[in-house]
Amino acid sequence: MEIQHDFSLKTYNSFALDIKAKHFVSLKNKAEAKELASFMQKEKSKFFIIGGGTNLLFTQDFDGYIIRFENQEIEILQQEPNHIDICVAAGREWDSFVDYCVKNNYAGIENLSLIPGDCGSSVVQNIGAYGAEAKDCIEEVRGINLENGKAFSFSKEECRFDYRYSIFKEKEYSNFLISHVVYRLKKDFIPNFTYAALSSYFAGKDSMSLSISDIRHAVISIRESKLPDHKEIPNAGSFFKNPVVSKDKYEQLKAVYPDIVAFSLDENNYKLAAAWLIDKAGWKGKQKGNVATHQKQALVIINNGKASGNEILEFSQDILEDVMKKFDVQLNREVILI
Ligand SMILES: Cc1cc2nc3c(=O)[nH]c(=O)nc-3n(C[C@H](O)[C@H](O)[C@H](O)COP(=O)(O)OP(=O)(O)OC[C@H]3O[C@@H](n4cnc5c(N)ncnc54)[C@H](O)[C@@H]3O)c2cc1C
Repeated sequence: MEIQHDFSLKTYNSFALDIKAKHFVSLKNKAEAKELASFMQKEKSKFFIIGGGTNLLFTQDFDGYIIRFENQEIEILQQEPNHIDICVAAGREWDSFVDYCVKNNYAGIENLSLIPGDCGSSVVQNIGAYGAEAKDCIEEVRGINLENGKAFSFSKEECRFDYRYSIFKEKEYSNFLISHVVYRLKKDFIPNFTYAALSSYFAGKDSMSLSISDIRHAVISIRESKLPDHKEIPNAGSFFKNPVVSKDKYEQLKAVYPDIVAFSLDENNYKLAAAWLIDKAGWKGKQKGNVATHQKQALVIINNGKASGNEILEFSQDILEDVMKKFDVQLNREVILI
């Protein structure tokens, strides 16, 4: 394993904050992860595992070990007539894995094209977009518990996936380094059109004539037209999650705001579009100092290049409080604070 000291995380967080990690550890394989586990037992210093840093907000330098699993291998585990199981290493860039699957006609994750970050974090966050979630195709998650060096393997059920959630978000699992993820992809392709923007993109086309690659290109094109590229405009994607409210609360809001954007989850609960709430509260495109919300997408907070992590945090807090004041709805951050 390689350990670097006083390491700038500027290229390892998509807000492009020039945060320093006291130590930065790059791991090439599971053997190195085990070696790190015994090293950390003696060291007793704090640590945090990162992927691409596209869902993180650092508010201060990190006085400990930042750990990254760099391995990017792809291995085919088994082929069946209808599906294939592929084991991908956590350090592989997510979109390059999607690209690999699409090029080989393995279906299931094409709607998740162009989501930044790595394959390991696709599990942690249960990434989702355009009517699909990573959990739909995850079979197994493997890695090393850095507390004791023991290997673990969790089934999809054991990961307890939910909206932008898995057990790896819980404090007691923060020592669990994901090294590999087994994705089960389909060989028979049925386009997933549940998301309105996608179905209208292909309006008038026969869905049976579409290929996996058509879906990937459509998703990329829609995303590029709506979301800023974090490599040009530093941001971490959706800063807040879409809040879930009771049916009563939704109906109260709907009576006052007939244009409210919401989705029914079940007979008692509605998911509100956080972007709509933030926009309606007057925050779309609003700037304070070095921080703003994006002109096209109120849910995305951007750094003009000079902001500190605390400035971004305060700006997000102002939005959170204003949405609470105006709608009596609690927003929760999707971005992880460190
Ligand atoms: C422009 C933009 C658009 C985005 N669009 C979407 C979207 O459409 N849908 C969506 O769901 N997300 C989206 N995101 C958020 C982000 O891309 C995802 O959350 C992504 O999965 C984060 O990956 P990462 O590798 O950068 O993880 P990081 O930000 O580095 O880490 C995220 C979490 O995963 C943990 N982690 C990372 N690697 C490991 C590992 N190997 N083992 C254990 N824990 C680990 C970290 O500790 C942290 O808790 C977007 C972000 C940006 C910047």
